Amino acid sequence: MNKKGHVLNAILLSLGLGYLLEPAGDLETFRTIVMIGVPVTLGALFPDVDTAFGKHRKTLHSLPVLAGFIAFPYVFGNLEYVWIGVLTHYVLDVAGSKRGIALFYPLWKKEFGLPVGVAVSSKHATAVTVVITVLELVLVAMVLYEVPQWGLELGRQAVGI
Ligand SMILES: [Zn+2]
Repeated sequence: MNKKGHVLNAILLSLGLGYLLEPAGDLETFRTIVMIGVPVTLGALFPDVDTAFGKHRKTLHSLPVLAGFIAFPYVFGNLEYVWIGVLTHYVLDVAGSKRGIALFYPLWKKEFGLPVGVAVSSKHATAVTVVITVLELVLVAMVLYEVPQWGLELGRQAVGI
């Protein structure tokens, strides 16, 4: 995806996360959206820095880079939530665009993608971005509202254990 797609994805995702975490729609919701939205948007812009430094869709589009951003707040106490932006950037590149990303770079240069994406220049790119963002939010909502546990519980009751 291009910058516009990554920013749109990050902003919509942050709006959704704000409402999922603070559903009241009050000042606290707004505060949460800003608190999450700024680092997530910065994180979502970061991987494409490898268009100038390194190999695009490889150097800063790998799981080791994501792991670094996940670990950073624990080690240094800042850059919280940036990893969400980096992760959603990867999701959008893998699922939303034709070319994949080298998740295991530099160990393995193969680029992984899903066959559902469109060309970055496609007129459907924005619609695809919105659909992927909604799917991400559904997934987050399922985890927050413990839908998998309900499913497990229902399954357990259905088989009588
Ligand atoms: Zn990218």
